[in-house]
Amino acid sequence: MGERIGVFGGTFDPIHHGHLIAAAELRHALRVDRVLFVPASRPPHKQSAVQASDQDRLAMLRLAIARDEGFQMSMIEYERAGLSYTVDTLAALRDEYPGALLFLFLGEDALRDLPTWHRPEGILSLARLGIATRPRSHLDLDVLYRALPGTRGRIELVPTPSIGISATDLRARVADGRPIRYQTPDAVIDYIRQHGIYRR
Ligand code: ATP
Repeated sequence: MGERIGVFGGTFDPIHHGHLIAAAELRHALRVDRVLFVPASRPPHKQSAVQASDQDRLAMLRLAIARDEGFQMSMIEYERAGLSYTVDTLAALRDEYPGALLFLFLGEDALRDLPTWHRPEGILSLARLGIATRPRSHLDLDVLYRALPGTRGRIELVPTPSIGISATDLRARVADGRPIRYQTPDAVIDYIRQHGIYRR
C-alpha cells in the first residue's frame, strides 16, 4: 500500500499550537505516515496580511516542527514561480510522491471557503480532505455537498481541541505586549522576540 501523506498548507505567520495540535490529531486519526507543512509563498487571498518576512515565517515553522519526525516542511510553493494554487501544489506532490494517498488538511473555516477556491473539484480528485473541527462543531455538510458534490465521501472530520488559537490574534498580542506563551512553542516565541517580529 502507498504511503499516506497529510498536506497542511498555510501562511504560518506565525505557526502556533492550533496548527500543531490539529496536525497531530489529523495524523493520528487518519493514520498518516507524515505531515508535510507547506508554507505559502504568495497566498492569493492573503498577501497584505502577511507581516513576517518569508525568511522569518520559514524559520519559525522549521523550529516548531524540528522535534517531530513525522512533521516535515515542503518548499514546493517556493520552488514554483508566481501564485500557487492548492490544486497545483497537490498535482506537484502527486508527481513527487507517486502512489501516495494524499490528505489535504484544513481547518473547519477553510473547508467552508473551499467551494470558492480555484478548481475545487480538481483538488478533490487529487486528495481526500482531513478536516480539523471544533469539538461541538455546527458544520453543515449538506450545504457543502450541494455547493461541491465532489466532497461527498471524501471528507474525514476530526475533532480538535485547540481551535481558538489564531495567527491573527498572536500578531495582535505581540503588537500590544500581551502574552503569547503556551500558544506557540517556546522556540517560536524566542525567535519572535529576538528578531522583533510583529512589534508595532
Ligand atoms: P490567520 O489568523 O492569519 O488567518 P491562521 O492561524 O488561521 O492564520 P493559517 O496559516 O492561515 O493560520 O492557517 C493554515 C491552516 O490552519 C488553515 O487550514 C486553517 O484552517 C488551519 N488552522 C488555523 N488555526 C487553527 C486552529 N487553531 N486549529 C485548527 N486549525 C487551524
